[in-house]
Amino acid sequence: MINIKSASEIAKMKTAGRITGEALKLAGESIRPGMSTKELDTIIHDYIVSCGATPSFLGYGGFTGSACISINEEVIHGIPGKRKILDGDIVSVDVGAYIDGFHGDSARTFVVGKIPSEVEELLKVTEEALFRGIEKAVAGNRIGDISHAIEEHVRKYNFGIVKEYIGHGVGRDLHEEPEVPNYGKSGHGPRLYPGMVIAIEPMINLKGDGVRTLKDGWTVVTKSGTASAHFEHTIAITNDKPIILTKVD
Ligand code: MG
Ligand code: MG
Repeated sequence: MINIKSASEIAKMKTAGRITGEALKLAGESIRPGMSTKELDTIIHDYIVSCGATPSFLGYGGFTGSACISINEEVIHGIPGKRKILDGDIVSVDVGAYIDGFHGDSARTFVVGKIPSEVEELLKVTEEALFRGIEKAVAGNRIGDISHAIEEHVRKYNFGIVKEYIGHGVGRDLHEEPEVPNYGKSGHGPRLYPGMVIAIEPMINLKGDGVRTLKDGWTVVTKSGTASAHFEHTIAITNDKPIILTKVD
């Protein structure tokens, strides 16, 4: 069942989304070579808690971090720990904040120092693909219109699209219906109605669609061993343009 949120629920989700976006922004401002992923996680954790919210991911399925921090060939679900962030890394940070009964969910891949131009392009195209999807998130369209817009943009560059992990509804639960794949056919899938809130989150690989999970049971990496990027926003469908709940200036 797809939950339609009332205006007052959307207002609460704006608060959850804002705290999520602010925590992610702070992560980007704080990240530096030599820092461990655990140190970065602590900054995110402390900010969320200082806002009176709870990190959505902490304890989720036994996850031990407040954010997922995934470096280079790590796609998603990297566990914060001793690993040091190095000059030349890309670092995908995925954050969720829960407050007043609702979650926000947002991710961004940050650049540390100088990276190869093909990886720069990967990040640019992944973020563009997210916004191509968001443009299609309007009432009357279908989920497949979002999925197709993302896929169409990414395929132009021959990057790989992760199929095993996808976007999702967001609300009282971190993961709700509907599923929001990053590939698909226009005109297919559930219809979009005002009050639906979804996370759109392309996970795009430099080479090949394939991924595998490391022995830690969490960290998803590219099969090719090449870089992967992840950009995500939680958005609300309205009678007009979508509202990006996790966007902060
Ligand atoms: Mg996320
Ligand atoms: Mg998500």
